[in-house]
Amino acid sequence: MTAMLTATHIRKSFGAVEVLKGITLTAHKGDVISMIGSSGSGKSTFLRCLNFLERPTSGTIAMEGVPLDCRKDRAGDLIVADEATLRHYRARVTMVFQQFNLWSHMTAQENVMLGPIRVKGLSRAEAAERAQAYLARVGLSHRKDAYPGFLSGGEQQRVAIARALAMEPELMLFDEPTSALDPELVGEVLRVMRSLAEEGRTMIVVTHEMNFARDVANKVVFLNEGVIGEEGSPRDVLQNPQTDRLRAFLAAQA
Ligand code: ADP
Ligand code: MG
Repeated sequence: MTAMLTATHIRKSFGAVEVLKGITLTAHKGDVISMIGSSGSGKSTFLRCLNFLERPTSGTIAMEGVPLDCRKDRAGDLIVADEATLRHYRARVTMVFQQFNLWSHMTAQENVMLGPIRVKGLSRAEAAERAQAYLARVGLSHRKDAYPGFLSGGEQQRVAIARALAMEPELMLFDEPTSALDPELVGEVLRVMRSLAEEGRTMIVVTHEMNFARDVANKVVFLNEGVIGEEGSPRDVLQNPQTDRLRAFLAAQA
């Protein structure tokens, strides 16, 4: 089976500091991969590299066996060869952020419509119809005309998930999607994510929600100081850690 996404030997330096030290990760169709690790271990940087929000210093990323066409910029980091390729790639691999990143001057529905209009070339009418379908998918039909400032954090994050879904991506990246939420709002977002996993979507989820990692992911990756410390099934990684670093990390989560 061809992998959906293969990231090979991804390295990233900020100035003299190497934050990612050669990370290789494969996601197959239907995989739900949880990435865990201490603050500062490079989880966000790695996800951002997967979406070229950050320019990897070296490494390759391939979708369905086809490497993305990259070249070096002046600083020596990798950039996707041209803007059209990058836009197309980001429609296939969408990202949900900790801080939602919605446009505050646009309604929920307008936020969800934007990508399909700009990147997929849908008409406003088509995009509105699509946005309504995905807002319904996250349980927010009744909030489609609300501006982000009038939505709770959990609602905002569900709009952000609808926005990512509206691109009809092959792979979804989530960077601590519940970390900015009040505790009572975490559940509604995790429920949506769990239902996406159950419908077979391919997801890479950076999270501190160990229950989600244990129950929903089929693979858990522990990032430690810019390298993969351990990886395997949730049972292997969460219940049978092999290294002191992972044991200490897990103990601190409990
Ligand atoms: P995590 O998401 O696991 O908490 P990050 O990927 O955010 O970790 O950060 C990893 C390291 O990279 C940290 O030491 C952080 O300070 C550093 N870092 C992240 N982004 C930048 C940046 N734009 N410039 C310089 N250092 C950065
Ligand atoms: Mg982070």
